Amino acid sequence: MARASTTPRPRLGVVKLASCDGCQLMLLNLEDELLAIADRIDIVEFPEATTHRSSGPYDVVLVEGAVSTPEQLEQIHEVRREAKLLVTIGACATAGGIQAMRNWRDHDAFRAAVYAHPEYIESLATAQPVADYVKVDAELRGCPINAGQLLELVTALLTGRRPDLPDEAVCAACKRAGRVCVMVSQGIPCLGPVTMTGCGALCPGFDRGCYGCFGPRESANVDSLSRGFVHMGRTPSEAGRLFAGFTGYAEPFRGLITELGGVPGTTPVPRATAAPEGAAGHAAPTPAGSPAQAGGQR
Ligand code: SF4
Ligand code: SF4
Ligand code: SF4
Repeated sequence: MARASTTPRPRLGVVKLASCDGCQLMLLNLEDELLAIADRIDIVEFPEATTHRSSGPYDVVLVEGAVSTPEQLEQIHEVRREAKLLVTIGACATAGGIQAMRNWRDHDAFRAAVYAHPEYIESLATAQPVADYVKVDAELRGCPINAGQLLELVTALLTGRRPDLPDEAVCAACKRAGRVCVMVSQGIPCLGPVTMTGCGALCPGFDRGCYGCFGPRESANVDSLSRGFVHMGRTPSEAGRLFAGFTGYAEPFRGLITELGGVPGTTPVPRATAAPEGAAGHAAPTPAGSPAQAGGQR
């Protein structure tokens, strides 16, 4: 008769900060795969799936969401103390997400504009990625994350091997998929050259430019790409705004947005009045017959 294992099963926790729960839903959507490994792990905390609460300890904890309130700031330090491995999942946790757009602007003015009683809202002046406060052992990008990458990461961590995750630009996945480049063929701005893949170049497959939801690749040459957007007919601040999406607060997108003037909450300067804008080195004349002039827009 087989003897029951006395080895304790790894404890997995999922913790939510400021987020929409979409990345947790990706985990829930893995129900068949989760069932396959359910007898090998204990999921002790998962707010999207159960009202049961655990404060740890965790062998692995997945953290969704940005640090946006004083309570979440305390929570993330507590989670870090309780976790052997802390993994951030999604654009909110890894880059600050949409919430971080407020970081460029007056937090109190935003709060007063959105809430009838802003005095009841306790939030930090900025929404920050988790790594700004505590050590992060691994991260999964995307808004939302890729379910296959999540499964690969969880199984790798629980079996003690290195996860096999892609480290290339969206362009590489786009070319492998045999897609026609929307930037070349239609003049649609695309952040594929500077964005980490993981989605299989989803947006170009639907005739849309990538807007960077998986965040910047290491050593991404955003200066060159922004100059390309200007060359295609965008003003410098319009080019900067193209980087100001879900991961706009992550460097080097953040620095470029600030430099070019595409800060969220402001109106990019249109071409007719673009000349005085202080973005030397990024402005370039629009060539006759450029894709932008031909009407390519995003
Ligand atoms: S990264 Fe996107 S899907 Fe995930 S929690 Fe944030 S907003 Fe939601
Ligand atoms: S469409 Fe975008 S991701 Fe695809 S090759 Fe062109 S620039 Fe790269
Ligand atoms: S193509 Fe870009 S914006 Fe679209 S899902 Fe992939 S990383 Fe996100």
